[in-house]
Amino acid sequence: MAQWIYLNGEFVNKEDAKISVYDHGYLYGDGIFEGIRVYEGNIFKCKEHMDRLYDGAKSIMLEIPLSYDEMQEALIEAVKKNEIIDGYIRLVISRGTGDLGLDPRRCPVANVIIIVEQLSIYSEEDYVNGLKIVSVSTRRNIPDAMNPKIKSLNYLNNVLVKIQANLAGVGEALMLNSDGFVAEGSGDNIFIVKDGMIITPPSYIGALEGITRAAIIDICNQHGYVVKEQPFTLHDVYVADEVFLTGTAAEVIATREVDGRIIGEGKAGPITMHLLKEFRKIVNKDGVQVYK
Ligand code: PMP
Repeated sequence: MAQWIYLNGEFVNKEDAKISVYDHGYLYGDGIFEGIRVYEGNIFKCKEHMDRLYDGAKSIMLEIPLSYDEMQEALIEAVKKNEIIDGYIRLVISRGTGDLGLDPRRCPVANVIIIVEQLSIYSEEDYVNGLKIVSVSTRRNIPDAMNPKIKSLNYLNNVLVKIQANLAGVGEALMLNSDGFVAEGSGDNIFIVKDGMIITPPSYIGALEGITRAAIIDICNQHGYVVKEQPFTLHDVYVADEVFLTGTAAEVIATREVDGRIIGEGKAGPITMHLLKEFRKIVNKDGVQVYK
């Protein structure tokens, strides 16, 4: 089936979806993006993703050429056009086409791209067995230089983490902030469980305010778990009863080993599995229905 890409208000074939080499997203990583899941025709947490997008745009003074409602409509249309029931949306807003100078004033209008695809995710076995991960030497960008709360197109920090994960032969890795506190993975937030308490780093540590992270905190509160946003170190990860990662693509996935230390029983623990189960109960409901 043809894949239709939304490109500045029009749907074009994947092969024809082209953008200028003078685009500042390409030249400077100047822009923002979102990754959003569609579950059974439901754009999961659509509003939350849009809020993060528009907040990021405000922060970097990027004017999105679509209103909030128009953007939501464009997402719905892109999912429909590609006849996707379960999939993944990549929404990219770059500063636009300019010249070789980095001045954003040279880019009169932002480029807006929406790609909708099927998603290849972890196997069900991975969710039960948990992932083996490592920590890496690459530190998280410091918030007063390039705030990790902004889901910007400048992902080199994360790419460097992924390269270190690749070199270590694992799929995901943890980065610390410059004070040595655990920040997040290259594309996921982290939670640890110790003596029944669930802890995730506060976003000021240098972590993205993940939509899945927020959904899991809500689920914890609804189910009577004690959940705290508190800084912790690698030692706390090593001695945790359970460690899991959250993200749009990963959902809620356990880690069975971190830096050679076996976590808990060496497989997904009961709290992780319970949270995954509860999370999967809301994914087709909490959001915007495409096929009403
Ligand atoms: N941290 C980083 C660096 C990410 O790229 C992502 C994925 N967007 C996350 C955390 C998880 O965020 P979310 O749950 O919104 O996908």
